[in-house]
Formats: sequence, C-alpha cells, structure tokens
Amino acid sequence: MNTPHAYIGRFAPSPTGPLHFGSLVCALGSYLDAVAHGGHWLVRMEDLDPPREEPGAADRILKSLEAHALHWHGPLEWQSRRHALYEGTLAELAARQLIYPCRCSRSQIRLHGGHDNATCRTQVEALGPSALDPQSPCALRLVCAGGEEHFHDIWRGAQCQRIGEDTILKRRDGLYAYQLAVVVDDIDQRVSHVVRGADLLDTTGAQRRLFRLLGATPPQFGHLPLVLGPGGHQKLSKQNHAPAIDDRRAAENLCTALEFLGFHTPVELAGERPEPILKWAAARWQRHQVDMRDRQLH
Ligand code: GLU
Repeated sequence: MNTPHAYIGRFAPSPTGPLHFGSLVCALGSYLDAVAHGGHWLVRMEDLDPPREEPGAADRILKSLEAHALHWHGPLEWQSRRHALYEGTLAELAARQLIYPCRCSRSQIRLHGGHDNATCRTQVEALGPSALDPQSPCALRLVCAGGEEHFHDIWRGAQCQRIGEDTILKRRDGLYAYQLAVVVDDIDQRVSHVVRGADLLDTTGAQRRLFRLLGATPPQFGHLPLVLGPGGHQKLSKQNHAPAIDDRRAAENLCTALEFLGFHTPVELAGERPEPILKWAAARWQRHQVDMRDRQLH
C-alpha cells in the first residue's frame, strides 16, 4: 500500500475452525468501523499454532468472508510466512536485554502462586542474544510485569490494566506466541484500529506495552460484545461446538449479525445480496449505537 491511510483496520482469525457466528460479528464490526471511517480493512490469517489448527479451516474462513462480501482491501497476510520478522524482533529485544529465557512449567508457576520471575530474570544479562538459542527448550518472556497501561477503549472507555506477569513471546515448544506476532504484524501493517471481541480485552495492556517498547504508537482498541454459547456463560467457540456459518445464507447471516450489533435491519434488506446490505450498514454505522451486551443469539 503506497498511500498512507489514516484508518487501517484488520480482522485476524486463527484457523482453529471455520467461521462461526461470533467470528462473523467481529469480522463485520471491524469491517464496518473501518469502511464507515473511510479506512482500509485487512485480513491476516493467524496460523501460528499448527497443533491447534484444523486442516482446511483457513481456506473455509476466507471463502466465508468472500461469500459475505467482506472483501479485504490489501494483501492477505499469513503469519506462518512471517517468522523472519518475529525472529528479528526477538533478536532486537534480546540485544536490549528485554527478554529472558524461562524454564518454569505451568505446575511450578502454580506451586509458587504465580510466576516468580526473580530467578529467571537474572539470566537476562548473562544470556543476552544467546537467549535465542533454538536448542534450548525454554520460553522467552518480555520484562514487563508490574507495569500499568492506561488507554481508552472505543466502546469500554477508560481502562487501567496492570500487567500481571512477564508475557511469553516465544513458547517452550518453539512456537512464536500470539502476543508477539499480533503486535509485530499490527506495527508492520500500520494498523491504526484494532476492533475485535471482548475476550481479548485483557491481553491489550501487555500488547500496548510491547508496541511502545518497539517504538510504535499503539493503535486505538475497541472491544465488541461477545456472542455467548449454550448456557450463556462462555463465548461461542469451537470448544462449545459453535456451528460453522452457512455461506448459502450470507444475507440472512449479515442481517442477524447487524441485529446483534444493535442495528435494526428493514425486512426488505433480508432479500438483498450481501453487497447492498454492507453498503446500507456502513452508511448507518454509529459507534454509540452498538449494543454492548454479551449475549446468546435468539
Ligand atoms: N487470532 C486471534 C483470535 O482469533 C485474534 C487476534 C486479534 O484480533 O488481536 O482469537
């Protein structure tokens, strides 16, 4: 993209399963907020964690987005093809002594009633760049615990998040952590607005900290209401058997997602194709009108 854009939004699904209704609401909310503000909307496939991924899910997600006329405005990115960028960032952080290797297992951490980083952190200076030794089965953590991040969420207002523990940027199993890749990519793609589900609100403080440590201004964050699964306790997800959305009913799905977000669609619209529905919605999108209640779909 050559022309700098004031608003760059994105949808960043993990291909752990097909698009379900909760993910459609996030895709639609981030798309409409971008388009209504004259922005660009990007799609980034967060295929960082092969053991959790479902074969074919990435392609199904992309086909569903297209069937719902949610066309992205720039190159599609795949995190699996961006490892060099993540490794480069880790090398930079290691050179600045901002990451350290940690061999604590989850059970050790539980036993201590939380991560006691005193021992691991002392290795920062000793190891420096060799913290990145691929032979060593340890996680890499960012020195960030104890800090606070204050920010304004588009829908949730003033937030003050205390960073509870040193965030893992590379996992013990050698995989890059979501927290690293999401920030590196949002910086690289010049994302200005992150509109996503409220389940990720708690991760925002540590992400903002990493943005700032990397010399970047954090984007504006906005967390949308969650579609809850059966029982109304947890968000709809693959774990609670959220059904894949039916691409043959794209218009109907979009109208239902709009209703969920608080936009009442006229009956005539349900008979339309996805494009005019999105056009109708982009012209009426008002942030203050979004219904903020996490709830089940009726
Ligand atoms: N890939 C993450 C997920 O599907 C979302 C990342 C984000 O929007 O920041 O939960």
